[in-house]
Amino acid sequence: MPLKRPRHHVHYHPRLRRQAPALVRLAAGFRRFQRRWFCEDHNLYADLREGQNPLALVIACSDSRVDPVLLTDSRPGDLFVIRNVANLVPPYAPDLTCHGVSAALEYAVRHLHVCDIIVMGHAGCGGIRSLLEDDSTGEDEFLGVWMQVIARARKIVDRLLPDADPAERRRACEMWGIRISLENLLTFPWIRTAADRGDLTLHGWYFDLDNGGLLQLDDQTGEFLPLIRPCPAGERA
Ligand SMILES: [Zn+2]
Repeated sequence: MPLKRPRHHVHYHPRLRRQAPALVRLAAGFRRFQRRWFCEDHNLYADLREGQNPLALVIACSDSRVDPVLLTDSRPGDLFVIRNVANLVPPYAPDLTCHGVSAALEYAVRHLHVCDIIVMGHAGCGGIRSLLEDDSTGEDEFLGVWMQVIARARKIVDRLLPDADPAERRRACEMWGIRISLENLLTFPWIRTAADRGDLTLHGWYFDLDNGGLLQLDDQTGEFLPLIRPCPAGERA
């Protein structure tokens, strides 16, 4: 006889009723997360409370459509994630300014000893579009300066694809941004040392949200090649 699933009676705190609809939805999502990982499965966070040992560090775009944890169907504790506009890694610059990306890299590489770093770009990146189209309103204080981390990507695209259509130029620039961020990772001496020793491997991934495919930067050819092919037409909803 099949076991009857216990019914979950959700008792929301009265404070939740006064929240904006978006927050109510997010809090309900947190309740499902809690039920899954704290009520039903007690083991995972029992281990994670002792510390984290992630499979990889992923550097992804802040874009709401490209969450690396969702895209890789990962569990809590699986991925150490850095997200910013256009998934950029600025070069090593040991000055006294605040470097959020560098601090997170340092923690992941020198303290957690991750073995793999994935820079994950994506199609339709708004940051890349702004770099190519100079569409800054002039009111932005930070976006234009931030995108200068990969100013060279635009120069390369201007040289290689001066007359290509905007979509092709964007796609190329998104991919060059990944290559440049991978180069910048190697300007960090402790990343370079770990990579040279074979303790750390760097990867470039490109999520093609136009068709659902995943491309990987190939070491040999320097090109992005299919890692997971787009969903076959017959399987699309
Ligand atoms: Zn993006």
